[in-house]
Amino acid sequence: MSRLDSFIRRMQAQRACLDWAVRAIAGLPGDVLELGLGNGRTYDHLREKMPDRAIWVFDRRVAAHPGCIPPTDRMVLGDVLQTMPVFAAAHRDGVALIHADLGTGDDAANRGLAAALAPLLAPVLAPGGIIVANIGFDTPGWEELPEPDGVSAGRYYLYRRP
Ligand code: SAM
Repeated sequence: MSRLDSFIRRMQAQRACLDWAVRAIAGLPGDVLELGLGNGRTYDHLREKMPDRAIWVFDRRVAAHPGCIPPTDRMVLGDVLQTMPVFAAAHRDGVALIHADLGTGDDAANRGLAAALAPLLAPVLAPGGIIVANIGFDTPGWEELPEPDGVSAGRYYLYRRP
């Protein structure tokens, strides 16, 4: 498979998982977290699909497309490992969906990031809340969910807090 094919499949998997998760939390009140603004593509998708939910966006910097920049009071700037504990203290159990798009091609770094991030995310997620991620988590208490139709195993990851 060419790198172009691989990129397209990863983006298709990302969209399929996000769309699945939006439907899965339809009846669950709560905010949304977007971890990794980047270019703003997935933030734009989430706000289009969930115009009535508050979406909190985390990144070290704002470098998104000008049309995809979150309101200042919903943008949490800094290393998420440092900003999340402060956020979590004010939003315990208040989040219905977390999209974590922070990983890179470095598997060891991704495992380390997942291990450090999981205990910080656990307190904010509401019971029944969903995590969609580009890195795998091995977190006790989170139920790993099957990929939606058309998404290959290991391309994107879905979890639910029971
Ligand atoms: N979801 C974005 C989109 O659709 O355009 C792409 C996100 S990009 C792959 C990853 C982003 O995560 C980068 O903007 C990077 O600055 C941010 N990031 C990576 N590690 C981070 C960390 N520890 N704390 C905060 N932001 C981080």
